[in-house]
Amino acid sequence: MRFGVIGGGVGGLGAAYELAKAGHFVAVYERAPFLGGLASTFDVGGGQLERFYHHLFLSDTTIIELLEELGLSDRLIWNESKVGYFTHGEIHPFSTAIDLLRFKPVPFIDRIRMGLVTLYLQRIKNWRKLEGITAASFMRRWAGDRNYREIWEPLLRGKFTIYAEDLAMPWLWSKFATRVSSRKGPLGREKLGYISGSWQTLVDELEKRIIVAGGETHVSTGVRRIATSDSGVTGLLVDGEEPREVPFDAVIATVPSFVLPNLVDLPENYAARTRSIDYEGAIAVTWVLKRSISSVYWLNVADEDIPFLLLLEQTNLVPTSAYGGRRIIYTANYVTRDDPRWEMADEDIIADYVPHMKKINPEFDESWIDATYIHKEPAAQPIMTVDYSQKILPVRTPVSGLWLASMSQVYPEDRGTNYSIRLGQQVARQAMEDVERRAS
Ligand SMILES: Cc1cc2nc3c(=O)[nH]c(=O)nc-3n(C[C@H](O)[C@H](O)[C@H](O)COP(=O)(O)OP(=O)(O)OC[C@H]3O[C@@H](n4cnc5c(N)ncnc54)[C@H](O)[C@@H]3O)c2cc1C
Repeated sequence: MRFGVIGGGVGGLGAAYELAKAGHFVAVYERAPFLGGLASTFDVGGGQLERFYHHLFLSDTTIIELLEELGLSDRLIWNESKVGYFTHGEIHPFSTAIDLLRFKPVPFIDRIRMGLVTLYLQRIKNWRKLEGITAASFMRRWAGDRNYREIWEPLLRGKFTIYAEDLAMPWLWSKFATRVSSRKGPLGREKLGYISGSWQTLVDELEKRIIVAGGETHVSTGVRRIATSDSGVTGLLVDGEEPREVPFDAVIATVPSFVLPNLVDLPENYAARTRSIDYEGAIAVTWVLKRSISSVYWLNVADEDIPFLLLLEQTNLVPTSAYGGRRIIYTANYVTRDDPRWEMADEDIIADYVPHMKKINPEFDESWIDATYIHKEPAAQPIMTVDYSQKILPVRTPVSGLWLASMSQVYPEDRGTNYSIRLGQQVARQAMEDVERRAS
């Protein structure tokens, strides 16, 4: 059978590998000039680095098993991660339960209250109990106003911008569950995983296996239209010097869900559902520095005057030898469509950020900078609002032979490469069964 996959991110490649392994012909079409999607990489100091920072949790079992299957287990490294919280001009350690108890920006009684809320959330096994509640109202009610203002409001605003008040509680619950899974015991430190050689190692191996099995990958080849007849999908109209139609028995689209109605005619109620899920964008600046900014890996920045919400020092998790001895730092934001930085020149964004780097480390000097890179992605994070499980689109679309496997269908977990691969594999298996049933 012939399968077409739209999108060469890890979800599309995971689906394609599954199809190729089962002996089907598969062709992956990616609009960008490279594979990997949100987990794609670029060259820094002779090594590869993700455009957007990436790590794994111990609960990311699908990707861990896939790495094993591909003979890449030895590339997976686990290191202790240090988390910090920058507020009122200071970095506060924020990794362990003890750190939380020592977190001075809120009174001791609130720290105890926060600890109890954390314990309560860890005891909840059925996230559906939290379905109709927003994270903001849950935290205001149970953690209290001071904890909400000092901790949760800045974190939610940083990650979900104008949607902070609308975010559903199961998403936050699953964040707790993931982070707890990456700790040894309640007082333990968190361990995070990284694929040495970057996510490119995984992307390259998947591509190799797809090709060896007789499949194809095409970059700089966007899909313009999904061709259909009365009986369903017939092929894909793909970019090229001469746009051409390639015949397929079934198609898996891994594009953001709101993109699907631009590619194919859908019944209006389904099309409206695809458009009803908002996404926000992300802008990440990568700084290649001569010196380290701090000893923290993941620093939440809760200061409204600082224009980034996160400062992540990659080389506090991954050795500097991966990047020619340089220090790698990301500063990042989630942003709405009207954020002025979409239009700003890269050098203006850097000039804007430099004084704020000095707030984090007063010794920071522009002479430390070897290079900077800016990456922007408009569809970086779907927004999970209350009762989201009822909004999730079924993977089988109303068009026979057309399947959707997008980040917006990952819930209540935060979207991640583990879950895109899991979804890609599941949809590939369902699509194969369906095509085989239709053919017999
Ligand atoms: C800032 C940030 C930090 C992250 N951190 C982590 C992390 O630490 N750990 C982790 O596991 N995950 C992380 N993620 C999430 C992870 O990157 C994604 O969940 C995953 O890469 C999504 O894969 P995907 O294949 O589902 O989607 P995508 O990667 O979005 O792939 C979809 C592809 O479809 C292509 N496309 C769109 N339209 C067309 C068309 N018409 N024709 C052809 N191609 C098309 C796009 O170019 C894209 O490459 C992070 C993401 C961001 C933005």
